Amino acid sequence: MFERVLIANRGEIALRIQRACHQLGLKTVMVYSQGDAGAAYLAHADQALCIGPAAPGQSYLDRNAILYAAQASGAQAVHPGYGFLSENAAFSQAVSDAGLAFIGPNAACIRRMGDKVAAKQAMREAGVPCVPGPQGALPEDRELIEGAAAEIGYPVIIKAAGGGGGRGMRVVHSADELLQAVSVTREEARRAFGNPELYMEKFLGHPRHVEIQVLCDSHGNGVWLGSRDCSLQRRHQKVLEEAPAPGIDPAALAKVGQRCVDACHLIGYQGVGTFEFLYEDGEFYFIEMNTRLQVEHPVTEMTTGIDIVEQQLRVAMGEPLALRQADILTQGHALECRINAEHPATFIPTPGSVTRWDLPGGLGVRVDTHVVAGYKVPPYYDSMIAKVITHGATREQAMARMRTALAQFHVEGVSTNLPLHRQILQDPAFTAGAVDIHHLERWLSSRQAGN
Ligand code: ADP
Repeated sequence: MFERVLIANRGEIALRIQRACHQLGLKTVMVYSQGDAGAAYLAHADQALCIGPAAPGQSYLDRNAILYAAQASGAQAVHPGYGFLSENAAFSQAVSDAGLAFIGPNAACIRRMGDKVAAKQAMREAGVPCVPGPQGALPEDRELIEGAAAEIGYPVIIKAAGGGGGRGMRVVHSADELLQAVSVTREEARRAFGNPELYMEKFLGHPRHVEIQVLCDSHGNGVWLGSRDCSLQRRHQKVLEEAPAPGIDPAALAKVGQRCVDACHLIGYQGVGTFEFLYEDGEFYFIEMNTRLQVEHPVTEMTTGIDIVEQQLRVAMGEPLALRQADILTQGHALECRINAEHPATFIPTPGSVTRWDLPGGLGVRVDTHVVAGYKVPPYYDSMIAKVITHGATREQAMARMRTALAQFHVEGVSTNLPLHRQILQDPAFTAGAVDIHHLERWLSSRQAGN
């Protein structure tokens, strides 16, 4: 049990977590950098402590500063949010070693899922379908590498075991490019992730990104909370997400969902997590597990009626899950548009002062944001300033509500990608549903060519 939670994050997610804590009667300690001093959400916290300069390395990524703040404030638990230290095994360990509860899985689970070769191995053991490819890390031997690629069939993708954020990957189309690609990727992996280990997979040409949210307690209970489709991406960054993933056979989904829960039991997973899959021609292929709360969790909340952050706090307090799989019913459809302070065509971030901030509202419309009129978007962090989430009985209704919400959302002072989202909601391929992960970039380049 704990009564005081330190929130080691900033922006909309810090406010989201703060609200969930207060609803459970928990006190909050908000840490902030000098770059976020004066942010409105800090005033709602029971305590707010400055932990360093604006640069993330000296504040939100500074483990010692955060642990010191926890000690000074008497916090008994740390919620890492997403990004920053949320998937840092050493941080999870340090929090536990300090006698505090880490609101997330233990260090061993984070470490295992952070090593993609080990993660894939665990998934195979649990019967979670994976992208075809050899088990384990790629050997050094040239003939073995060539043999593995020939067996999978070209194109193949070479990926770093320690990779993340869409970096450390290379697609290989033919045998004559293979060895060169392996050595370049290995060198990149060594430099970027400090781990030269690589693995090889079949390269899927037109997959969708479909993911499954799980929730597990410390008593061996686990549930999965339906699917999300996050195929609309630019440079591997999600732009718009929805739940459920449209047009997927419910029986096939239920089978994969149960396998994800089985995998959680196998690795002793506790807390919330997401299994990410590529989905192509009716088949699921595991790519990675995110061992934290995700930006897009609200679309699952809207379709299941379950407060994921509340559940996350409850299981961290040691409560057994009150939910059983049979209780999880998804209703209707939800969409989320990530609103960024950036130029809508060039995507260059546009920090600065927000002079007008008119939010949409109404039935089935939710806006998660820390921004208020007069807020100054700092240049040091991610440019996301709001998430507009709509829910409807059908996908059509969720889209209609989103179109109205986006039309009524007015921001001045900084540019935003609102115009981009308004256009996506008019795109016939998107509105038909089930576009692949390359759709948005194809659509953007054809739009550019048409201009
Ligand atoms: P990261 O942790 O860097 O996000 P992932 O393994 O999740 O790495 O892969 C990131 C993205 O790379 C995927 O969303 C997909 O777009 C692409 N990708 C990864 N593996 C494959 C594959 N086997 N076939 C096709 N695309 C892939």
